[in-house]
Amino acid sequence: MDPASRKVTEYIDRNKNRILDFLCEFVSKKSINHGTPGTGDELEAQNWVRERFQEMGYDEVDYWFPDEAQKRPNVAGILKGKMGGRSLILQGHVDVVPVPDSELGLWKTDPWKGTVANGNVYGRGAGDTKGGNTAMIWASKAIIDCGIKLKGDLLVESVIGEESQEGETIGAADTIKRGHTAQFAIVSEPTNCEIHTESPGVFLFELTVPGKSSHTASRNQVIFPQRYGIDTGMSVGVDAISRMKMFLDLFERLELQWNQRWRSKVLGSGGYPVPNDKQGVGLFTINPSFIEGGTYLGSVPGYCKLTCNVWYPSWLKVDDVISELRERVHALAQTDDWLRENPPLLNGPVLQNWRPFKIDVDFEGVKVLASSYEEATGEKATHSGFRATCDATWLNENGVPAVTFGPGGLELGVHGPNEYVPIDELIRCAKVYALTIVNWCGVKT
Ligand SMILES: [Zn+2]
Repeated sequence: MDPASRKVTEYIDRNKNRILDFLCEFVSKKSINHGTPGTGDELEAQNWVRERFQEMGYDEVDYWFPDEAQKRPNVAGILKGKMGGRSLILQGHVDVVPVPDSELGLWKTDPWKGTVANGNVYGRGAGDTKGGNTAMIWASKAIIDCGIKLKGDLLVESVIGEESQEGETIGAADTIKRGHTAQFAIVSEPTNCEIHTESPGVFLFELTVPGKSSHTASRNQVIFPQRYGIDTGMSVGVDAISRMKMFLDLFERLELQWNQRWRSKVLGSGGYPVPNDKQGVGLFTINPSFIEGGTYLGSVPGYCKLTCNVWYPSWLKVDDVISELRERVHALAQTDDWLRENPPLLNGPVLQNWRPFKIDVDFEGVKVLASSYEEATGEKATHSGFRATCDATWLNENGVPAVTFGPGGLELGVHGPNEYVPIDELIRCAKVYALTIVNWCGVKT
């Protein structure tokens, strides 16, 4: 380790308790986003971040409202490079998902007060992504407090609106519109300290299967063959909910085939080296998120609507996936007398359409992040794909190559009760961020 790297890692070890206090206080700044545009309340937390940034001694702290009608600021702390070295963005979202009343009783600690216990920090946002943000902020604080002068620019950004896909508009993407760009970016999502160079995309579609309502007293005629001359089957009624079963089966078979068909070294494969990957294999799924149907308590159900959430690989377009779904639904409908004449309707994307991201695993920034990981931990970094979507998509789409790398995991209570981040991962990531700053931006000696 060179002297600058040794100084910053020792600084982080020395300040472990202050880092934990910082995260606990950060958690208490309720920055709830209800998940739809315009419902984020990030103001108090962002004001707190701005104050911390101002105390730290960045060359510049930028704080701005991307949409004047909403009091939802983004904040960036900037260290200006002294000699035209490579520039780096460390970015994390400040908004967190709500804690529903129905889940409050399941929490063992107060979700709105960070709590240190069992080697973890518990609290809403501890993993997603105030833990990662804390590690990024303290990595930059280590650089400043150790008196290290960087050759390239460093930007540490706290952004709004990730949970509501507003990163595409007023959050992550807006930082670039504001003029804050760099040659490489790391997004602080919880990746179990794995380097994620790719994510799948996600969208939802609705499938509506038509039926034919009739009195439940005539259900016998709807479902059982009748004597010659008596009406039976679809001339009397069609149970749309029952018809939906064939499509549920179809989608289950399809998600199995997708994971046999769509394979890559990075995304959904278990990563490499495999034994360290925590996410598992088979990311391409069709989840039945909602189902509704039926028209009246005394009627054979006249319609059924299924809403599915689909994860697809980074190398496909959403329209390609929807085309396949339409073809499969159409082909299956041809096997049924009623559905051949009364085709089901597939509508999508609806509700959400979040595109994937992908950068080359051989990109120089990825190599520097991986070697910094090795330098900080003495172990090889695990490369994999992120299992969810995040703001890295909007950075990549706006010309800044971005990966995700951060402490905690999506399976550690994120978007559920008892969210937490392991302290050893928090500290490990702070060191890796700090060494990546040193190794990527360069140090003026
Ligand atoms: Zn989240």
